[in-house]
Amino acid sequence: MILLNPGPVTLSARVRAALARPDLCHREPEFAALQSRIRHRLLGVYGLDPERWAAVLLTGSGTAAVEAMIASLVPADGTLLVVENGVYGERMSAIARAHGIRCRAIAHEWTDAVSLPAVAAALDQTPDAGALAVVHHETTSGRLNDLAPLAEACRERGVALLVDAVSSFGAEALDLERWGVAGCAATANKCLHGVPGAAFVIARRDRLAAAAAPARTVYLDLARYRAAQDAGGTPFTPSVQCFFALDEALAELADAGGWRARHAHYRRLAAIVEQGLTALGVAPLLARRESSVVLRAWRLPDGLDYETLHDGLKARGFVIYAGQGALARTLFRISTMGDLGAAEMERLVAAAGEVLAGR
Ligand SMILES: *Cc1c(COP(=O)(O)O)cnc(C)c1O
Repeated sequence: MILLNPGPVTLSARVRAALARPDLCHREPEFAALQSRIRHRLLGVYGLDPERWAAVLLTGSGTAAVEAMIASLVPADGTLLVVENGVYGERMSAIARAHGIRCRAIAHEWTDAVSLPAVAAALDQTPDAGALAVVHHETTSGRLNDLAPLAEACRERGVALLVDAVSSFGAEALDLERWGVAGCAATANKCLHGVPGAAFVIARRDRLAAAAAPARTVYLDLARYRAAQDAGGTPFTPSVQCFFALDEALAELADAGGWRARHAHYRRLAAIVEQGLTALGVAPLLARRESSVVLRAWRLPDGLDYETLHDGLKARGFVIYAGQGALARTLFRISTMGDLGAAEMERLVAAAGEVLAGR
């Protein structure tokens, strides 16, 4: 089965084999070496300086990393502003509320671009703004939010920028240093091609040192993990096998030429899907220039509901993804992440042609 959902992804043979490495106790030096290697490789994906940045590894899904980032990096006396233009922006507000963090949403329609004037106005109207959280790639719509102007607005006002890069890390440009990002949350099992169960936050070391105290959470306290991991340890039992897979996936990414090569590869695959589907009369939700190379949302053609399309494609070996919420009735999504090539995309387009012809 070929997975075209935005994680978990179709694994390479190399990553799958890493899951079967010999058993390892997380209190042994071999685990410390594995963990350090992964943390080093994660910073290396975007060339970050280990003196200024720390990659903090967690056992959990992408949401665990986002929750750890928000619970740990929003200052105790500050309000969190949250840019919402999809499910994942709204989830960050829900996380803040669950932790009793003062929070103000900058709400948009799920299909809309982020309004810089609205963000600037919210920042100006919130004297105690401590941080602004935004999703890089809003997987709800496939929109790649333009972070540079938001980062500039935050920097001018001395507000920390927190980024959910769960579905972009490893495949889209992330200039954490230039944008002045305080923390960035991501996961093993999307553009990095690992398995679900390992996630991470890349944070500025000075921001981690100033983390909210007392901690709002025990399991998701980044400062605690950072201290333990810098010393070669880990506070809790990690998912060792998921770490094996992430280690191998990061080596594979580096061997393939790093995030830029992965971006170019995804762009080629996305172009095959775009050409094929538009030739079949299927229209994208967003223009290509607004979309990530990672995932694209498509309008369901007239006379075809999602279940019929999904089941028809699944019978031909492909799993696609529904729209979320009310968008489930009008959209479907196709992700290009995972160990996929042009041949799979061409077979997908042929399969879609068969399902559409049979409607
Ligand atoms: C997938 C995703 C998440 C987290 O999802 P999990 O199911 O917890 O791994 C968070 N944000 C974005 C933008 C995502 O695409």
